[in-house]
Amino acid sequence: MSDASRKFLIGLLLLLGAGATVGWFYDHAVWGLLAAALVALAWQVRQLLSFDKALRTGNFDDFRYGEGIWEQIFARFRFERDRAARRKQNYRVLLREVRKSTNAMPDGAVILDANNEIINCNRAAKELAGLKRKKDRGQRVDNILRDPGLMHLLHSEDYTSTIEIMSPVNDNGWLNCRVVPYGADQKLLLLRDVTERIRLRKMRRDFVANASHELRSPLTVISGYLDAIADDEDMPESWAKPVSQMKKQAARMQLILAELLELSRLESAGPAKSDQPVDVLGLLESTTEALGGHADVARVVIDAESSAKLQGSSTEIETVIVNLLSNAIRYTPAGGDVTVSWRTGADGADLIVADTGEGIDAEHIPRLTERFFRVDKGRSRDDGGVGLGLAIVKHILARHDAELIVTSEAGAGSVFRCHFPVERIAVEPPIPLAGGG
Ligand code: ADP
Repeated sequence: MSDASRKFLIGLLLLLGAGATVGWFYDHAVWGLLAAALVALAWQVRQLLSFDKALRTGNFDDFRYGEGIWEQIFARFRFERDRAARRKQNYRVLLREVRKSTNAMPDGAVILDANNEIINCNRAAKELAGLKRKKDRGQRVDNILRDPGLMHLLHSEDYTSTIEIMSPVNDNGWLNCRVVPYGADQKLLLLRDVTERIRLRKMRRDFVANASHELRSPLTVISGYLDAIADDEDMPESWAKPVSQMKKQAARMQLILAELLELSRLESAGPAKSDQPVDVLGLLESTTEALGGHADVARVVIDAESSAKLQGSSTEIETVIVNLLSNAIRYTPAGGDVTVSWRTGADGADLIVADTGEGIDAEHIPRLTERFFRVDKGRSRDDGGVGLGLAIVKHILARHDAELIVTSEAGAGSVFRCHFPVERIAVEPPIPLAGGG
């Protein structure tokens, strides 16, 4: 118990004692006690009412708290009030600092609630995406930034992927979007201006496409003359080898140009369109027939677990199969096995080409789909490899929302798995009932 509380109780007891004593002198001790209690109560009620008034009006100057417990209560109250005011001020300064720093960020940040409605955004988000802090508060962000990819990203709870969308405020602008979880059930949509990066990517793509295109015509002329020289019966004997070498290299250059042009086409076109569902199993059979079955190459077996069709481009899927199968055959010795499989299930579809060939060291696997990457450059070149096959495969798969997963062990063989999402599996139309009508 504090000193003030003790003093208060002692004072109260003394007052009640004095009242009782005075009453006792007049033979009415109880009345005396009662009168003293009433005096004590009246004083406390007065203090209480005046404290209540001071609280309501905020004017504490008129509040006469006297000494003792009321003084202590008031001192405590004043201390807490000042502390709360100090805290509020600190928070205000902190908030101002946070707002200043988020506004200074070059990237846009939009705070979203669980329904993707805008809670707040920084200045960069306003500039990059044309958001208005007050007007757009409470609006769904996918109603303002209308892009199917962004809608998918917001609903997928995928916090690692990023997508690129066209800027809603600048015709030639591009924004990179990423979603990260934030607080309880909130999300932060981060926007970055990638216009320059996209422009450079397009420039590089256009340059490669134009250069390949321009080189094709002179190369056709050179190849034509080389063919004519090779066919010329008067050609000196000593020219035979160099001419044959030149023809081989010219053919190789034509192959490189054709593959570079194919890559450019794949890069610049949108998602693969499908007119008719692709008969993957049929393509596996025809490709196996064309590439396998030779005496000096590995045995190719088809493991068909499904006959389901795929939504996509038939020619592109055929390119994938040809590239993977020809690689498997090239990198597997004649006694080895190559297995091509087609499986579909609840989690999607898999096109798998597995071989028991030379395999690939783990360190090289992440680089396989880079342009011109070859584990053994000399060896691949001698085999006619260009190093663009898997880059083409990767692009085609991306256009089909699919991914390439490579597992391999040096000396033991490799597995190239193309995984397609379940949405890409074509739904068979129902078989009409016989005799129905
Ligand atoms: P290339 O025309 O050289 O085959 P690719 O892009 O098709 O180019 O393949 C890139 C490299 O990946 C190849 O040079 C080879 O080193 C490696 N590779 C591809 N497939 C296989 C496989 N089935 N087994 C072993 N290595 C492979």
